[in-house]
Parts: sequence; structure tokens; C-alpha cells
Amino acid sequence: MVEIQILEKSDDYMRFIVSGVNVPFVNALRRIMITEIPTMAIDEVVFLENSSILNDEILAHRMGFVPIKTDLDSYSLPEECKCESEFGCNLCRVNLTLEVEADEKSMTVYSGELKSENPDIVPVSDKIPIVKLAPEQRLKFEAYARLGKGTKHAKWQPVSMCTYMHLPEVKIDPKKCNACGECVRVCPEHIFVKSPDGIKTQNELKCTLCMDCADACPQNPPAVDVTWDKNAFIFKIESTGALPVERIVLEAVKILENKVKDFSNQLKKG
Ligand SMILES: [Zn+2]
Repeated sequence: MVEIQILEKSDDYMRFIVSGVNVPFVNALRRIMITEIPTMAIDEVVFLENSSILNDEILAHRMGFVPIKTDLDSYSLPEECKCESEFGCNLCRVNLTLEVEADEKSMTVYSGELKSENPDIVPVSDKIPIVKLAPEQRLKFEAYARLGKGTKHAKWQPVSMCTYMHLPEVKIDPKKCNACGECVRVCPEHIFVKSPDGIKTQNELKCTLCMDCADACPQNPPAVDVTWDKNAFIFKIESTGALPVERIVLEAVKILENKVKDFSNQLKKG
């Protein structure tokens, strides 16, 4: 049976233990989160004026990587939109504009200068530097944000980190251990503590399976045994801010479910 235990959760970050699954399953989820969840990003920029030091292509590329808050319920992917237009409509495209001119002093243009036609579809942060303008330089452009997937371009990835690792299990054999304290000294995560009744472990979940403790133990074979649970994983996900992290997980599960359904339907047909 699949079990989930949430260890930490905020809007942008989640860490949980999932047990009762195997590597192919968690890896499928990880890959779907990175590459297949529709995310909003600037996809086209029309420059009206640019006297800054950066040329249009570089600025357009930078704009693509500004994380944009995504509304998956109101917008559709351009290829699935009813408008079937290459240019897009207000269900598959959001217009953003920027117009800045430096006066006598040089200045930095930040993502907060972008004005969106939809107040919900805006940069995740106002403080992302775009370009520096010298006195009297001007920048004016229109940008179009669309939904897309990470398979096509990294700017459409909703996660800035998505990893999993086996659930560690650290055991000390009290018969072999002479409490020399070598493992306490080498462990970078401070998992071992010296106590009057010998070496004890704490915060085992922090173990990175580096094995330094087993290598440092003077006993042969080592008194400390680091193993991992084959069917339990610690999953860490950090959102770029485009979507709440919980939504990313739920969407990934939905996509995986649809893939399995599709697969079995094709099998039945064949
Ligand atoms: Zn459309």
C-alpha cells in the first residue's frame, strides 16, 4: 500500500516520505514534474525600442526565464486551444508590456516593471534584474506568455528542484561498537551522538548515505551499518513559484494516471 508522510510543506517547497513504491514509479513522477506539467512563460517578445547594451535576442531569452504565476484552470495550451490560431487568443496567451527610460542616472530594470493584462499572471518576484540602463537609454517591448511544457524548453519547468532518495536506515551493532566516537566526528550531518550508553543516532532522515561513518569505524566489519529501504523514498520538490508545489504533485499524478489509462486502452484495441 502506498503511504505518504509529509515532513515539510510550504507554498514553494515540500519534502515527504513515500513508501510502498519502487524506483520506476518515483522516477516517472519526477520526470513528469520536470517536463510535462504545463507552466506559463514568456514565449515571444516584440521590441518597439531597445537602446540598452543587451541586444533583443538576449533580452528575449532572459524574459523567457522569468518565472510567471500560472493559472492552469483558466488557460489552455496553445496546441489544445479552441482558437486554433498561431497568434493565440485570450484563453491561451497573456500580454505583458514594459516601458522604461533612464533619466540622468543609470538604473536597473526589474521584473516588477512588467505590466500584465491579467493581474493574476505576473512575475513570481518583482526583483529579478532584467537589464541595466545607462542615462537616456530606453526599453519598450510587448511580451506574450503562453503555457508550455519542460520537454520543449527549460523555461516551462515548474520546479527548480525535484529529487528523491532512498529512505536511509542507520544501525549500530552494540556488540561490535566500543564507542570510540569516530563516526560522531566524521558524519557531516551529525547523525551520531555519544551518550553514557554508547553511540546513539538522531535525525536519521538527514543521512545522505555517504558511508563516511562506516569507512571511519575502526572495527572490521564496521559496527555501523548504513542501508536503505528499497521501497521508501524521501522526495524533495521546490517550485519556481509558478505553481503551488502541491498542485505540481497532483498534476503529475493525474498525467501519470492518464498515460496508464491510454496505454491500457491501446492494448485492448490491439
Ligand atoms: Zn487560443
